[in-house]
Amino acid sequence: MTIAVNKMPTDPGPAAWNALLGPAKDFPLAEHAQTADFVIVGAGFAGLAAARRLRQLQPGATIVVLEARKIAEGPAGRNSGFMIDIPHKLDSRDYADSRDADLLRISMNREAIQFSQTAAAEFDMAQEAFDKSGKINAAAGSTGVANNQNYAEHLSNLGETHELLDAAAMRDICGSNYYQSGLFSPGTATIQPALFIRSLAAGLDQQGVQIYQSSPVTSLSRSRDSWHVETPKAVISAGKVILAVNGHIESFGFFKRQLMHIYLYASITRALTEAEITALGGHRNWAFTPADPLGTTVRKISGTGGHRILVRNRFTWAPGRSVSEQKIKSIAPVHDRSFQTRFPQLQHVQMEHQWGGLLCLSRNSAPAFGEIDTNLYSACCQNGLGTVMGTLSGKLAAELATDQNSKTLKAMLDQPQPSILPPEPFASIGANVFMRWSEFRAGREL
Ligand SMILES: Cc1cc2nc3c(=O)[nH]c(=O)nc-3n(C[C@H](O)[C@H](O)[C@H](O)COP(=O)(O)OP(=O)(O)OC[C@H]3O[C@@H](n4cnc5c(N)ncnc54)[C@H](O)[C@@H]3O)c2cc1C
Repeated sequence: MTIAVNKMPTDPGPAAWNALLGPAKDFPLAEHAQTADFVIVGAGFAGLAAARRLRQLQPGATIVVLEARKIAEGPAGRNSGFMIDIPHKLDSRDYADSRDADLLRISMNREAIQFSQTAAAEFDMAQEAFDKSGKINAAAGSTGVANNQNYAEHLSNLGETHELLDAAAMRDICGSNYYQSGLFSPGTATIQPALFIRSLAAGLDQQGVQIYQSSPVTSLSRSRDSWHVETPKAVISAGKVILAVNGHIESFGFFKRQLMHIYLYASITRALTEAEITALGGHRNWAFTPADPLGTTVRKISGTGGHRILVRNRFTWAPGRSVSEQKIKSIAPVHDRSFQTRFPQLQHVQMEHQWGGLLCLSRNSAPAFGEIDTNLYSACCQNGLGTVMGTLSGKLAAELATDQNSKTLKAMLDQPQPSILPPEPFASIGANVFMRWSEFRAGREL
């Protein structure tokens, strides 16, 4: 049996968070045939979490990680850096679901955040790499304010700590008059995603996990008791293989017509000058998610690379798992507008980097998780909260591959399969209409 991989990952624009950090540790290419106990394909949140969990469970095992791109250049290093414990609306029907389902989901997210927090401590990560800062759901218009009030009621019902902030409090935090209200919840961690991923990879490397970058897996084949994982220059044979490639699992021939591939886009300003930092005012760091899920995420950071503001909005449907570099050009003006309406005092500040990245959703928000062939495991399709669900699915795939039992693993295995998409062109037409309409409805939150 041979599985040929029919598409390699690409994401438009630079991996800006990685660029802010300067030169990275040079992980090698896979260049020689070797054997291993476990091969993990993909070095994002899922792949590195799987490697760490395997190292914990089987300290003597040979673990190889194969990443198509350079470490932290893929979506894991391109996101907005929110590791969110309480789901927002994007992928969950959390307002309608039962209390038990909500609590289970929150506890799963928290298990992932906790796993990342212990990694941050174990590998001595800088605070900017992982900070249990909490986050604010920011509302600019009346619909956003109403969403925040509903959400606050929901949190009260769940017994979750939160604080509603008025316009003055929001101005004190971010220096902008744009927002009418905010809803603070303390359980989110904010990460510098590229620094987090780099530090995690470096820590695992120190623990003997063999990480190869620029080593795309081109095929998988199985003989009696081994999988043979092929890259352009090497074949690694292993008893067990974990695919941690998110939506690219479809390029391996699995979950066909069950996964929705979406690009998300972000921009970050150049470093602000001292005068601009003073003109802006507010706190050194803050992290706002939008009160409408299709609105604009905004973060102020002040770590390596200076004080900068990040904005993230716009979604595009990409069933072929690629998008042209040109797309960035058409989305950049939307980011500029979102930035300038919020920060008129920084009108002249340009975006230094603009980029996009692929993420994967399913219609029923189910993950592509489990043993998909003998000794071949999938830790893919993270839905909206990929930093936490990626971490969790990687951790749990490692547990599944080593025959562990846990309540969370059982809960993950109990989830349904991703449901089948409508046939084309209906799926694409429906998705595009839904996304454009939802963005239009986001109004001032965009
Ligand atoms: C702009 C933007 C903002 C976002 N903001 C957030 C946020 O704030 N919070 C949040 O939770 N999520 C966010 N996300 C989503 C999040 O980044 C992803 O869901 C997350 O990275 C998924 O983790 P993963 O490990 O499953 O997959 P990935 O991070 O995509 O890692 C999979 C890896 O597999 C590699 N790969 C693929 N095919 C092969 C192959 N054939 N051989 C070898 N390697 C291969 C890829 O190169 C990639 O590095 C955002 C995404 C974007 C683009």
